[in-house]
Amino acid sequence: GQRVFSGVQPTGNLHLGNYLGAIQRFVGLQDQYECIYCVVDMHAITVPQKPQELTRQIREVTAAFLACGVDPRRHIVFNQSQVSGHAELAWVFNCVARMGWLNRMTQFKEKAGKDRENASVGLFTYPDLMAADILVYRATHVPVGEDQKQHMELTRDIAQKFNNDFAESIARNGFGETYFPLAEPLIQGPARRVMSLRDGAKKMSKSDPSDYSRINLSDGPDAIAQKVRKAKTDAEPLPSEEAGLANRPEADNLVGIYAALSGRAKADVLSEFGGSQFSIFKTALVDLSVAHLGPIGSEMQRLVADGHYIDSVLVDGANRARVLADQTMRDVKDILGFIRAR
Ligand code: ATP
Ligand code: MG
Repeated sequence: GQRVFSGVQPTGNLHLGNYLGAIQRFVGLQDQYECIYCVVDMHAITVPQKPQELTRQIREVTAAFLACGVDPRRHIVFNQSQVSGHAELAWVFNCVARMGWLNRMTQFKEKAGKDRENASVGLFTYPDLMAADILVYRATHVPVGEDQKQHMELTRDIAQKFNNDFAESIARNGFGETYFPLAEPLIQGPARRVMSLRDGAKKMSKSDPSDYSRINLSDGPDAIAQKVRKAKTDAEPLPSEEAGLANRPEADNLVGIYAALSGRAKADVLSEFGGSQFSIFKTALVDLSVAHLGPIGSEMQRLVADGHYIDSVLVDGANRARVLADQTMRDVKDILGFIRAR
C-alpha cells in the first residue's frame, strides 16, 4: 500500500514556511493516499517547553491541520505521545543507527549551537524518533520541507540497515525480503524552503527571535502588510525570467512565496511582474497573503476556542493510529527475537 506520514512540532508560531512546505501539501495528498498527520509533541520536548504553553500549541497545530483542509475522518490526525509505538521503535532505532550517522546531522548542530555539552540527548537522537514516526506506520511517502532532506536520508539508512541486519529473521517470520519500506520524501513546489523575510540566507523558522522574519498563520492583515513591506529586498526591479533570480535570494524567496500561494510557477509570476519595482510586487503579495491566510487564521481561532472538539479529534485519531503501530511493534519484536504474549 501507499501511505503518507508527516509531522509538525508544537513548538511555537506556525508560519508560512510550515504552511507552504508542509501543511498545504498534506491537503493535496488526501485523495491519492491513506494519510497520517501527527502533532509531534515528543519531538517538541527535545528543547525546553512550558507545559501549559505546550498544551495550547498542540491544539493550535491540530487546528491548523483542520483549518487548512485536512479531513480527520477520512485520514488520521493525532498527537505522537498518545501512541507508545513511536517511542518503542525509536529505542530500537537508537540501537540500529550509528553514532557517526547522527554526528553528521546539521539540524542538531544548528539547534545545539555552541553549548553542545548542554544539549539534551533527545535533541541528538531526534532523527531516530523521526524515523520511528514514519516507519511505525511503514509509510511510503513523507511530505516535508527541504530542511528535512537529511533526516529523510537517515530514515532510509535505518530502514535499510534493519532490513539487512535482520534479513534472515524477517524471512523466517514470513515477511519476505524486507520489512520496512525505504520511505520517499515529497519535497516539491516553489516553496520547499521558505526563507526568513529579514535574511535570505536563513530559513523561515518558529525559533527566530525576530517576528518580522516570518509570517505567522495567525497574523492579521495589518501584521502581514507590515512584515511584507519591511521584508528585505535588493534595489533592482524584478527580472522577467527565472534565471534572473540567481544570486538574488530575497527576490527569489518573495517570488516563490507568491507562486506557491497562487498555485502558479515562478516563471509565470515573473512574466506578470518582470520589470516591476518591489513596491508594486509587495502590494500584490500582501493582498494575496491576506486573502489566502485570513480564512485559515479565523478558522483556527474558531477551532481552538472549542478545545474539547480538538482533543476528541486527537483521541480518536490516536486510537486508530495505535492499531497500526501496535501491529508493527508485534512484528518488530518477533523479528528481534523478543518474547511477547500471544
Ligand atoms: P522548529 O524551529 O521548532 O524546528 P520549524 O519551523 O522548523 O520549527 P517543524 O515543526 O520542525 O517547524 O517542521 C514542520 C514542517 O515544516 C517540516 O516538514 C519542515 O520541513 C517544514 N518547514 C519548516 N520550516 C520551513 C521553511 N522555512 N520552508 C519550508 N518548509 C519548512
Ligand atoms: Mg524544524
